[in-house]
Amino acid sequence: MIEEYLKIHGDYRNDKSFKELTTIKMGGEIAHYIEPYNIEDLKQIISFLKVNCIPFKVIGNGSNLICGSSRFEGVVICLKHFDNYEINNNIIYVEAGVMVPYLVQVMLKNNLKGLEFASGIPGTIGGLIYMNAGAYKQDMSSVVKEVLVLKDDEVVRMNIDELKFAYRYSIFQEHPRWLIIAAYLKLEAGDPIKTKALIEDRAMRRRQSQPIDKPSAGSCFRNPEGDFAWKLIDGIGYRGMRINDVEVSNKHSNFIINTSNGCGEDYLKLALDIQEKVNAKYGIKLVMEVEKFNC
Ligand SMILES: Cc1cc2nc3c(=O)[nH]c(=O)nc-3n(C[C@H](O)[C@H](O)[C@H](O)COP(=O)(O)OP(=O)(O)OC[C@H]3O[C@@H](n4cnc5c(N)ncnc54)[C@H](O)[C@@H]3O)c2cc1C
Repeated sequence: MIEEYLKIHGDYRNDKSFKELTTIKMGGEIAHYIEPYNIEDLKQIISFLKVNCIPFKVIGNGSNLICGSSRFEGVVICLKHFDNYEINNNIIYVEAGVMVPYLVQVMLKNNLKGLEFASGIPGTIGGLIYMNAGAYKQDMSSVVKEVLVLKDDEVVRMNIDELKFAYRYSIFQEHPRWLIIAAYLKLEAGDPIKTKALIEDRAMRRRQSQPIDKPSAGSCFRNPEGDFAWKLIDGIGYRGMRINDVEVSNKHSNFIINTSNGCGEDYLKLALDIQEKVNAKYGIKLVMEVEKFNC
């Protein structure tokens, strides 16, 4: 019955797994997967799932998720069809499913700047707003003006003051049933040659310092106030430490990578071990930046 209903409202699959939907390539099978065609279909799906008490999870590019190996008996919703954008002077209206590195290219073509900090973050607009993702001392709070949100079966506008942005935090983390549909970003006029040069320089630095050629979910831990997680992990001698096919990267010790057939359970075991050792040595409680799901 779920399958029949979902098939009317989007591209449906019952053979997906988190392994193929996450950048770290870990995680179990998914009972139902749907890419809703449009906002009306999305509304119908959410109401149906709520009425029938069926668990669901919206995902972007799966670049911040660590999923367990057991089968998820719910519905994974991916907003791939929410991929439109429109530019009016320096304001970009962009839907939640647009990949941010792609949007950065659009920004450059339109002689704008403001999103260069996010050019190496492999996620969607929805995911970056949810996480208030950032780099180089800048984050999404510096560009988001307004967000369109599906909450309680209605699409509402939320302005920046309502989003409670803080370091890697937004109000959406308290409300997993609110869905980000689109956003208005405020950028500035910029010199595309200079902006491009800055982006390329940072991309080169990322390639040199991060294992971006290996499956990962980015930084495992948030940086504690006034410190760096990678330094603390180095301090306990964990660079290169591994559990089965999950390894603290030799290139950047705040990245935990999947060397071949790693699983979320081993990832979390290694992360917990790091937290305990860092706490014992430095009295600092590292907080995970990645999100665990279904484990
Ligand atoms: C190589 C690499 C480098 C990275 N570098 C950085 C970095 O420099 N800075 C940084 O901050 N992060 C970084 N990350 C982590 C990650 O890319 C970010 O956290 C990003 O914001 C996740 O976006 P996503 O679309 O992949 O979201 P997902 O991982 O799919 O989801 C993350 C969370 O957002 C929620 N979500 C997604 N879309 C929506 C929506 N439309 N409505 C409501 N909730 C939604 C999901 O339910 C989930 O809870 C990196 C990751 C990798 C793999």
